[in-house]
Amino acid sequence: MRLVVVSNRVADLRKTTQSGGLAVALADAMRDRGGVWLGWDGQSNEKAESEPQVEDVGSVRVISLPLPKDEYENYYAGYANSVLWPLFHYRLDLISYDPAYLRDYHAINQRFADALIPHLQEDDLVWIQDYHLIPLGGYLRQRGCRNRLGFFLHIPFPPHDLLAAAPEHADLIKTLMAYDVVGMQTETDALHLKHYLEAEMTITPDEEGYVTSPGGRRCFIGRFPIGIDVEQFRRMAEDMPDDVHFDMMRNQILDRKQVIGVDRLDYSKGLPQRVDAVDRLLTRHPEMEGRFSLLQISPPTRENVEAYANIRDKLEAMTGRVNGKYSDFNWTPVRYIHRSVSRDKLAGLYRASAVAFVTPLRDGMNLVAKEFVAAQDPNDPGVLVLSQFAGAAEEMTEALIVNPIDVDDMAEKLYQALTMPIEERRRRHEWLYECIRKSDTKIWLEDFLACLAPPMDDAAAAA
Ligand code: UDP
Repeated sequence: MRLVVVSNRVADLRKTTQSGGLAVALADAMRDRGGVWLGWDGQSNEKAESEPQVEDVGSVRVISLPLPKDEYENYYAGYANSVLWPLFHYRLDLISYDPAYLRDYHAINQRFADALIPHLQEDDLVWIQDYHLIPLGGYLRQRGCRNRLGFFLHIPFPPHDLLAAAPEHADLIKTLMAYDVVGMQTETDALHLKHYLEAEMTITPDEEGYVTSPGGRRCFIGRFPIGIDVEQFRRMAEDMPDDVHFDMMRNQILDRKQVIGVDRLDYSKGLPQRVDAVDRLLTRHPEMEGRFSLLQISPPTRENVEAYANIRDKLEAMTGRVNGKYSDFNWTPVRYIHRSVSRDKLAGLYRASAVAFVTPLRDGMNLVAKEFVAAQDPNDPGVLVLSQFAGAAEEMTEALIVNPIDVDDMAEKLYQALTMPIEERRRRHEWLYECIRKSDTKIWLEDFLACLAPPMDDAAAAA
């Protein structure tokens, strides 16, 4: 059966490395299986009268959709990233509303539906990705689509009472009932959706996780934790670039450990709290001065969204303060890079680091945590410090789990990580490596598609 993937943007399938988790996982899957991938063409057109571009890249048919600039802005920077992103990351205080956002969110979803319908074959499996495209399944059904439809949410799903703060919550969530499978990153997220359906729509899930919509459609709601290509990442880390290798040796000679943080510059990532924790650690354990430094890689993101306006200034001011307070002529506690770093370099930097400090305030999964574990030398592995609010914490229980709001807890766990004996490091790493292998990106994909494939009875009847 052919796989048809729809996401806001299509990854560049000619590149072997992609920069985001979603793009990496799906690009690998599409190259292996072949199929159709539909997404925005990446250019804001003043007019969107032009037809979608269709191009075959290997066995993948890529359909690139032109979208009108203002409508796209209201849909992407507006409803998706000024309403849904903060809402789904539990930040009601950062929501910014404009009626045009919601209007154009639906308008763009309808454009996606119109563009996809002519390309669909009868037994295609259609898999729609992420919060930008929640209502797309409903619009496809309205246009007569009878294919199996799946939806996967890459970000957290909030508890019922938070979600109910959005005036249009009922209409939005109702559209999820157009799908045959709705996948979440964690058990907690899946439970939140089930509780919502019970409370708001008196729809009760059965023991297997199916709900039946008022229209009679059975929809499976399940947990499908996304992973990484562990083997590929391990190999990439072993091929450490020369400049990273040189820096690692220099740190070894100076008996200095590298702590790494890699996060888009997003308010959900808990970056100010992280810098505070470095400050607190140096206050509580002055003997650690000169013994470690935090390398924080934070590429810019969504700079045209209001809630992101001051993050950079705040982080740079905090970093400057901590560095001013503790730096010596040959050492600074925080090194901060405000640019994107390629994945092969990142893999080497993870391997050259003694600790990953992954402390988001809320995160759907957090692939950096998994990449760090995959990149380690098993004989001398680094330690993962992980926020209890990252989806990854549900699986990766042998990390040092922290509460990112509690700066003392973070400072002490960072200290514990930096001073952890080798046996304990090896034991925890072995456990975590096994854990990420079990949710490798291929397993994520196979599990989801196994649920999305028609039930045996239907498939036999169609044959
Ligand atoms: N990433 C990258 N270069 C950077 C920063 C991040 O390639 O400079 C990648 C990182 O390796 C990871 C992804 O971007 O695969 C971030 O995924 P994650 O789930 O951690 O966070 P998200 O950005 O999706 O919220």
